[in-house]
Amino acid sequence: MKQFIQSKINIFSLAILTVFTVIITIVYFQFDKNTEQIKKDILQNEIYKTSEYAQNISIMIRTHLKNNDIYEHLKKDEKLRNKIEAELSLFKSSKYIQIFVIRKDEKGRLRYLLDAETNLEERGFFNQKFDPLSNLWNKVFDSSIPEYAFQENIKDLWITYLYPIRVNNKTIAILAFDFSSNEHTFIVNMINPIKSMFLYSSLILVIFLIYSYFQLYRHNKTEKRGFIDPLTTAYNRLYLDTLKKNINLNNYELCMIDIDYFKKINDTYGHNTGDIVLEAFAKRILNKIKKDDILIRFGGEEFLLIISKLNHKRAYKVPERIRKEIESTPIVTDNETIYITASFGVNNRPQQSLSLSEAIKIADEQLYKAKEEGRNKVLSSHEYK
Ligand code: GH3
Ligand code: MG
Ligand code: MG
Repeated sequence: MKQFIQSKINIFSLAILTVFTVIITIVYFQFDKNTEQIKKDILQNEIYKTSEYAQNISIMIRTHLKNNDIYEHLKKDEKLRNKIEAELSLFKSSKYIQIFVIRKDEKGRLRYLLDAETNLEERGFFNQKFDPLSNLWNKVFDSSIPEYAFQENIKDLWITYLYPIRVNNKTIAILAFDFSSNEHTFIVNMINPIKSMFLYSSLILVIFLIYSYFQLYRHNKTEKRGFIDPLTTAYNRLYLDTLKKNINLNNYELCMIDIDYFKKINDTYGHNTGDIVLEAFAKRILNKIKKDDILIRFGGEEFLLIISKLNHKRAYKVPERIRKEIESTPIVTDNETIYITASFGVNNRPQQSLSLSEAIKIADEQLYKAKEEGRNKVLSSHEYK
C-alpha cells in the first residue's frame, strides 16, 4: 500500500506536469499564430500608408496635366517631365527605394513615363519598355483597383504597390512603389528566442513525460506481479504486509476460509489435481467478490477474504453465498468430478481489534470452531443485529 501511495503521488505529479506541458505547447503555438498576425498587421499598415502617399502623388501628377493624354503631354513637354520627376524624387527615401509611373501603349506593352530614380544607370527612361514580373500590372489596368505583391527574404519583406492614376474613371497610368519593410523583424527577433524556449521546453517535457509514464507503467506492472500468487491469482502474504499499516478496519469484515479435508484430495487424486482444485476454488471466490474486496492466499489452502462493507449492503451474506457455491458446484478435471466444501471464520467487528493481525486471529478462531463443529460452515465472532 505504501508503494501504491507513492505511485499515486507519482501519478499526481505526472498529471500536473502533463497539464503544464499542454499549456506550454499551447502557448508556443499561440506565439506562432501571433507572430504571423503581427506581420500581417504591419503589412496592412504599410500598405495603408503607401496608398495615402500614392493618392497624393496621383493628385499632384493630375494637376500638372492639361489634357487626358498623359503620354502625348509628357512627350511634348520635357520640362514638365523633369519637374514632376523632381517632385516624385522628394517622396523617395531609404524605405521607398523606387517610385515610377508606367503606361500601356497601343499594342498593350508597358512603358516608362516617369521615374523618380536619379541614378542614370538604374533609371527607366521616357518610353523605355518595362518588363513586368507578374500579371499584377495588367490586373490594375483592367480593374482600376490598387494591388500589391510581396516577397519575403530572411530579413525584409519586399512590397510592390501599384496604384492606378485615373482620369474620368479610366486608368491612364500606374504609379508604382517598390519598398521594403523590416519593422516586423524587430518584433519577430524579440519573440523568436522566447518562442524557441517554449518549443524546447515543451519537447524536453514531452520526452520526459513519455519516459516517466513508461517507467510508472513498468513499475506498477512488476509491483503488481510481486504481490500476486501465481497459482491462484489471489494476493500473497507480501501484499497483506503492505495492508497492515494502512487498512481502515471500520470498513471491512474479515473472513478466513479453509478447504475441508484437502489433504484427502491430494492423497486421492495427487498433488497436481490438488493444485487444479485449489486454482478453481480461488477462481470461484474471486468471481463472487467485488472490486474493493481483497482475497489473499494466507497459507497452503487457506485464504483471507477482506470484504468491503462499502460495497456490499449485507457483507455478512458474502461468506455464506460463497460456501453454498463451493458446496453445490463440483470441480471438474479431465478425469474426475470432485466435490469439496470449505469452512469460514468471520470477524465482523475487526475495528475492535488493535491491529489487522489481531483481527485475523479472531477470524481464525471462528474458523477453528467451524472445523470443530463439523466443517462446511460459516461462524462469526459477533451476532448480526
Ligand atoms: P481440514 O479440514 O482440517 O482443513 O483438513 P485439511 O486436510 O484441509 O487440513 P489442512 O488444512 O491442515 O491441510 C492443508 C493441506 O494442503 C496440506 C498440504 O499438503 C496441502 N497443500 C498446501 N499447499 C498446497 C498447494 O499449493 N498445492 C496442493 N496440491 N496442496 C497443498
Ligand atoms: Mg484444510
Ligand atoms: Mg489449512
